[in-house]
Amino acid sequence: MAPSSTGPWQGNLRRALTDRQASRLHHLSSDTYSDSQRNRNQVSEAVLPTTGAAARALATQNSHGNEHGDNSLSQQFEKKRFRLDASRYLPDIHRKDLIVLHFTAGTSCESAFRTWQTDPKRIATAYGVDPNGAIVEFFPPEAWAYHLGVKGTSHHDKRSIGIEIANVGPLQQDTENPDQLNWWPRNWGVPFCRKQERERYVQAEYRGMKYFAAMPQAQTAATAALVNFLCERFGIPKVASEEARRGDYNLSGFATYQGVASHSNFRRDKWDVGPAFRWDSLGF
Ligand SMILES: [Zn+2]
Repeated sequence: MAPSSTGPWQGNLRRALTDRQASRLHHLSSDTYSDSQRNRNQVSEAVLPTTGAAARALATQNSHGNEHGDNSLSQQFEKKRFRLDASRYLPDIHRKDLIVLHFTAGTSCESAFRTWQTDPKRIATAYGVDPNGAIVEFFPPEAWAYHLGVKGTSHHDKRSIGIEIANVGPLQQDTENPDQLNWWPRNWGVPFCRKQERERYVQAEYRGMKYFAAMPQAQTAATAALVNFLCERFGIPKVASEEARRGDYNLSGFATYQGVASHSNFRRDKWDVGPAFRWDSLGF
């Protein structure tokens, strides 16, 4: 999930989590806000391709999709119901060479939208994908918002397009009923599914967790279509490295990477996009 510190992550919940759990959960990095504030002041690294070669490059990027007639997918995007106010993202336009996948650690694009819309810190992603496969465009993908929370730089926020997959993320066995898997609220106390429901979760060891909520086929297919659409429209390489697929942290390596990555490649303390995402669905 894109970093945030409003909504359910504040207050009682935060106190209910151990520090280790809190640091692993997406929204809970306490320094995210100050990072965002600091990053916003780093205008010197901002590229403003409104004139000259950069603008022409961007125009080429944007016209690419039109020439290839792949606007049909964009016509299906939900652009009104969950559209962020212009004050909730940054409108300056940057060339894009990276797509970063997240999960929301929640159940819907709507809940992510409500968190971001009430938060002045401009934390968001351009897109979200609901479990039923509906694609939400929260703000224009040429613009940007803080979705990575990398300390000391907003460069990767600017050059990337973030996609939030609505998914609750890691699951833990209920302490009293080992046949039940719970998700994070109420100190990992909210039932998600029974262990017999094998289609509801993926079992894989990743950053100290063993179970991750599954992503339905419709959501996986819509995410893959969106990624391919954005790669073509913005000229982003259709590349997903083995390191990206494994969710390895390698900030310096991914600093120059172009293609599709996940939040965990940029942060050690994130689980997303996690083992439940089927990278083979991308088709490259
Ligand atoms: Zn994330």
